[in-house]
Amino acid sequence: MQLMRYKAALAAAGLAATLGLTVTAVAQKAPTAKPKSVAVPKVIPGFDASAMDTSANPCDNFYQFACGNYAKLHPIPNDLPEYDQFVSLYEFNTAALHRLVVQAAHAGPNRSANQQKIGDYYQACMDTSQINKDGTAPLKPMLDRINDLTSKKQLPALLADLNNQDVTAFVNFGSQQDLKDASKEIAVIDQGGLGLPNRGYYFRKDARSVKLREQYVQHIANVLHLLGDSDAQAQSEAKNIMQLETNLAQSSMGIVERRDPHKTYHIETVKAFAPTVPVLNMPEFLKAIGAPPVSSLNVAVPGFFTALNKTIQDTPLSTIKNYLRFHLADSYASRLPEQFDQENFAFYGRDLTGTPQQQPRWKRCVNSTDSALGDALGQLYVAKYFTPSQKKEALTMVHGIEAAMGKDIEQSDWMSAATKQKALQKLHMIADKIGYPNKWRSYAKLTIKPDDALGNSMRARVFESAYQLNKIGKPVDRNEWFMTPPTVNAYYDPSQNTINFPAGILQPPFYDKNEPAAVNYGHIGAVVGHELTHGFDDQGSQFDGKGNLDDWWTPQDKKNFNERTACIANEYSSFTDAGLHVNGKLTLGEDTADNGGVHLALMALMARQAMDGGHISGPAATGMAAKYTPEQQFFIAFAQNWCSNMRPQMTRMLIQSDPHAPDAIRVKGVLDNMPQFDKAFSCHVGQPMDAAKKCSVW
Ligand SMILES: [Zn+2]
Repeated sequence: MQLMRYKAALAAAGLAATLGLTVTAVAQKAPTAKPKSVAVPKVIPGFDASAMDTSANPCDNFYQFACGNYAKLHPIPNDLPEYDQFVSLYEFNTAALHRLVVQAAHAGPNRSANQQKIGDYYQACMDTSQINKDGTAPLKPMLDRINDLTSKKQLPALLADLNNQDVTAFVNFGSQQDLKDASKEIAVIDQGGLGLPNRGYYFRKDARSVKLREQYVQHIANVLHLLGDSDAQAQSEAKNIMQLETNLAQSSMGIVERRDPHKTYHIETVKAFAPTVPVLNMPEFLKAIGAPPVSSLNVAVPGFFTALNKTIQDTPLSTIKNYLRFHLADSYASRLPEQFDQENFAFYGRDLTGTPQQQPRWKRCVNSTDSALGDALGQLYVAKYFTPSQKKEALTMVHGIEAAMGKDIEQSDWMSAATKQKALQKLHMIADKIGYPNKWRSYAKLTIKPDDALGNSMRARVFESAYQLNKIGKPVDRNEWFMTPPTVNAYYDPSQNTINFPAGILQPPFYDKNEPAAVNYGHIGAVVGHELTHGFDDQGSQFDGKGNLDDWWTPQDKKNFNERTACIANEYSSFTDAGLHVNGKLTLGEDTADNGGVHLALMALMARQAMDGGHISGPAATGMAAKYTPEQQFFIAFAQNWCSNMRPQMTRMLIQSDPHAPDAIRVKGVLDNMPQFDKAFSCHVGQPMDAAKKCSVW
């Protein structure tokens, strides 16, 4: 239910800087090493006149009109799978975080405990000479444990430890809010163990998919070879591992099916579940994983575990050992000697997303500092880059958009009074979270050393697992965030019933204090509306105000709702990009949120304008923006959220794995449905942007 596509893909492939002013920073082994300049990317203004192609007719192709020059002006840097508005802000934030981590690394003997952790984590990650010198030694204890396996009976304890290190071989164990009792945190065990993005990748028959699988098998072989196996040995082991993963994929649930929350919710007692997977020896697995005592858990995909039992029984122990060695090493590739790191990029960056070059190390190290120590680094970030007035303005906008949603519900002509009342109840119970958490997490129990990159990463992962598992059986903390403060993204959480906007996205071009309100409502307003609408899309609408999976719809209203969402799913399924059809069933929730988001943001803008006597106080439009009416500025700004330039491989990967439609389609799909857009640009039926059939949910 996030706004943006794969953050992970971006992080893996890296982000390069466009040149702007530079700051001096110290990379590699400070303080003796040479200071390196780090480019700080230019801030893109809210209304980006340079991206527009005003020779295009907005009624023919609005994306071309709003973003037609963007790709020309923003060629994709070699170390990126794409460039877009999110990436440009992400680059800016990464440069900002870089300054903070370098400062922390050099803050002197009196630095705070958090500064020590941030600074040393970054420093150790950058220290490639130490990493190369250490070789695979830091992994040796875990590799030995795998090599020493003599019986499958020893697997459960080992798999538990690997799970705690975020190496999810075979299974994925953790905590989650109980979908039907949102006040409780419970244990969950889910399918896992695939190295390709999802189930579909193992079975598609087209030439590209076949080739990608061959490349993956070669990647497995290369990693095993780096671990010391002979070439011939590695090649044959890789084939066996691929067969093993294909068996796991066979019984895994696909991404479209997983969108239905009922399909991944099966509460079972440990007593009843354990005999279905004797190979996991559940009592032993649970003991080893160190979770608080559990008597029942959510078995997300029961069929997977019965099949897993047979797969493990039928697979030779030697193949299982190689499978575990491969995933362990690949998972820590960026903290191992550079051949591992390069090999990992060669598959996940180059083959999978078409990116020719790896992201510079400093960016990857800043990023992993943010994921390991998010609340520590986040505190420094918000102190510098997020003011109380930004927070206040964001909250005003959020309240306005929530009021618009209330009005939209009340005015709808397809819902009964009873369902409307329930919908309003849910709306009023949504918690608005802006910028950063009220309470910061403590990292006191996490040890970070200045010369132990892999150890730091391992301890940080174990620390995080323990934190997540420790929630089991405890009340839910609705104040908790699942994104770090500098993240350029936003999300709705159906179990918490919260909308969350990290400080990292409340920045230009999404929110720009120098731009008129119409532009900001088109940008961040549409983002706010998007997240709010997720509470009422085909998934969110199945949860009530308390966050429980609970049907609050009358049958007739549900039928009306389903007809409306089917219209959206059909609309988006008709679109194609990079030679592939969009899967409207996979993107339905995001498409519904995109449509509702723009509609609600525009309603809120108009309401605010009326309240302010026809003219919202704040900066007036200047330059090219002044040539357009506020409504036109709003639609241009919305479209410019999605200006982008993407490699075709990346587009294909996203269509096959990401629940968001491709960028240009996110613009066309929404505007096709909006009479307000047709009015603002005087489009008429028969022109491509004014679809005769209009879909609408919210
Ligand atoms: Zn979303």
